[in-house]
Amino acid sequence: MIISDDNNKNIKNKGASNDAPKCKSQDLEAKEVDFDKTYEKNIRPKTFEEYIGQSALRDTLKITIEASKKRNVPLDHLLFYGPPGLGKTTLAGVIANEIGVNIKITSAPSLERPRDIIGILMSLKGGEILFIDEIHRLNKVAEEILYPAMEDFFIDLTTGKSQSVKTMRVPVPKFTLIGATTKAGALSGPLRDRFGIIHRLEFYTIDELAQVIKRSAKILNIKIDDEGAKEIASRSRATPRIANRLIKRSADYALVKFDGKIITKQIAKEALDSLCIDNLGLVTTDRALLELIINNYDGGPVGVETLSVALGEDVRTIEDVYEPFLLQKGLIARTNRGRRATKLAYKHLGIRYTEQNGQMGLFD
Ligand code: ADP
Repeated sequence: MIISDDNNKNIKNKGASNDAPKCKSQDLEAKEVDFDKTYEKNIRPKTFEEYIGQSALRDTLKITIEASKKRNVPLDHLLFYGPPGLGKTTLAGVIANEIGVNIKITSAPSLERPRDIIGILMSLKGGEILFIDEIHRLNKVAEEILYPAMEDFFIDLTTGKSQSVKTMRVPVPKFTLIGATTKAGALSGPLRDRFGIIHRLEFYTIDELAQVIKRSAKILNIKIDDEGAKEIASRSRATPRIANRLIKRSADYALVKFDGKIITKQIAKEALDSLCIDNLGLVTTDRALLELIINNYDGGPVGVETLSVALGEDVRTIEDVYEPFLLQKGLIARTNRGRRATKLAYKHLGIRYTEQNGQMGLFD
């Protein structure tokens, strides 16, 4: 999905973004950082040492891993939740590496048929980790197959048809399931209850992201100074995947426009302006969403379905990709009647806020 300014032509534009830069909008949904695959692999942390931030979670995990090693039992099943790009898959890989076991990575939408989940469970070896991304999208049948596998390490296989149907109880190797989801609330109760540890991944601080950026730059042989790293960090939506993408884009910019000069604050700023990323890290669609609530719905509340139609984005993308950061920044608030733009959103877009209807005109 490429976010384009054309999506937003139907939005009444009172005041905001009247000096919108000529820039190329960003695809926040892309899972891969668009490097060469080997680079992507190289910059992904493999140990707790390399894994930046999430210190509370790291400490909990280190103790859990140590305890399971001492007891000589597989690690409890783990559920990680939080917005995309915060490091759930990376952390699962780190855990496997720290324990010294293999990890099989799959995602719920690719486990559509019963034989998909059965096949993967049967292929596991003792102690291995099964990582299921987007686990809230697992269908009912797959979930039911997973329950006894998670709890008692067996699956019920049925053979034959109608009258002659037989159920066989088949053991599966002891494994650890790591589930990842952007929506913990969408998981069924019985599935959620089968995880021993459920943990939310936090957004990253600017300092943590600057560390991510400097680490990746070193691996990728990109020259960047501290201020340049901080500038990119502050516009990366508190998300390492985006920080990694923006360092690559900034390096391209520095190469083409500045003959490969070291990325300074000024070069980073220019590069990111050219990508329509503002000083808070908002992209065109974020701003369009805020403008829509303010200009067309007097600041809200407005339902996410209405926003979805007007923006041409699906509800899931708005909820999973855009909203978490806008909520975290305090630019929108969720009410039971829909989304509301906060005073901060008016301020950020340069629109005057009044109590009566949310807005009047431009800031002076
Ligand atoms: P998620 O599974 O939550 O969507 P990923 O684990 O795929 O996110 O992380 C996206 C990218 O961000 C990875 O390629 C990785 O290089 C980087 N990354 C994630 N978490 C960290 C971290 N804590 N420290 C350094 N880099 C990270």
